[in-house]
Amino acid sequence: MQVKSEPTFEQLGLQSSTIKQLSRIGYHTPSPIQLAFIPVAISGRDCIGQARTGTGKTAAFMLPSLERLDLERNRVQVLVLAPTRELSEQVYAESMKIGGGSRINFGLVVGGRPVHRQIEDLRRGVHVVIGTPGRVIDLLRRGVLKLDALKITVLDEADRMLDIGFRPDIERILKACPSDRQTLLLSATMPPPVEKLAQRYMSAPEMVDLSEDRVVVDTIEQYYITVDEDRKRSLLIRVLAQEKPSQAIVFTRTKRGADALLEQFTRRLKSNRIAAIHGDLPQRKRDRVIRELRSGQLRLLIATDVVGRGIDVSGISHIINYDIPEFCDDYVHRVGRTGRLSSDQNGRAITFVTLAQGGELTNIEKRINTVLPEYIVENFEAFRRRDQTQRTIRKFGN
Ligand code: AMP
Repeated sequence: MQVKSEPTFEQLGLQSSTIKQLSRIGYHTPSPIQLAFIPVAISGRDCIGQARTGTGKTAAFMLPSLERLDLERNRVQVLVLAPTRELSEQVYAESMKIGGGSRINFGLVVGGRPVHRQIEDLRRGVHVVIGTPGRVIDLLRRGVLKLDALKITVLDEADRMLDIGFRPDIERILKACPSDRQTLLLSATMPPPVEKLAQRYMSAPEMVDLSEDRVVVDTIEQYYITVDEDRKRSLLIRVLAQEKPSQAIVFTRTKRGADALLEQFTRRLKSNRIAAIHGDLPQRKRDRVIRELRSGQLRLLIATDVVGRGIDVSGISHIINYDIPEFCDDYVHRVGRTGRLSSDQNGRAITFVTLAQGGELTNIEKRINTVLPEYIVENFEAFRRRDQTQRTIRKFGN
């Protein structure tokens, strides 16, 4: 009988000091994206990795990038662009972890933070810069960020960067990078605008696609539940009572929707373990919310897509799609906040669907290639119009 041995970091061509550090931080086996992406990236070729956050993709692009650094040169050699401050901070934290104990200097350049400190860091000399496109452009304009010694550009969550309108900034930054650089692009989805960007700015990129059979990882149990728009709030309360999540993220489509839900919930539950996060909140408040989520202080976070999708907190047991996502790809990102590699528990995702949104549910099911089972809440009337929805009502236990 042939025994299939576990893959190792040694077989990926990483330096032994790196492997020692990985073992120190508890990374003993490469994740599938790391196994597939690292050898291609380490060879110097341009590479597109289709993988979502939570699968170990940061280390997948950072490990091969760090291998190429010349620490004798006090110059920026790797630039990582990410769509949000939160994601940039996560990438920064993860990079510091895997680069721990080395002489590598990392710099974080994001908006909403004092620019003068970032300028000081850059002047002191950093090897790897991680940041959001807006601040990167700002620092390029000021002449503090210099990219002439750059070896690698990484576009993380490229699909989301394009979604939130960073295309002109990204193109400007890529034009400022040396033409012989290596480009690594990571994206959970591969819509035509991302492919176009890749065609324009990458040279014969190799595709590493782990999305097909694992669009949504099998550590996430997914359900839908049909409900009238005006009964969603009562349903949410019932679902939370039934599921008793250790930590949950409730997604709404709009900032206003998130604030309204927060207000109603805070009033009803009189709890300070609930918060909302969206792009209109000042950075300090966003930071505090993420910190409280990470420390377990928050049990319930109400979030919109732009900010919510980058959250990497291992304790999230439940995702509730209070509003069905507008785009199928957002569904993939949202549910990926649970059942994460760093978590030892499975996650659950429950999507609220109104009668008018049946088509949207079908589109999501097509996207993830799975038919979602219905979630049952005992003795809950999800609809007002009993006569027209008899069949569904019966399913809810009435
Ligand atoms: P990412 O997809 O980069 O957001 O990573 C998700 C989580 O998995 C992070 O908390 C990492 O610290 C963790 N992680 C990444 N690679 C590994 C690995 N090979 N073994 C164990 N944990 C990992």
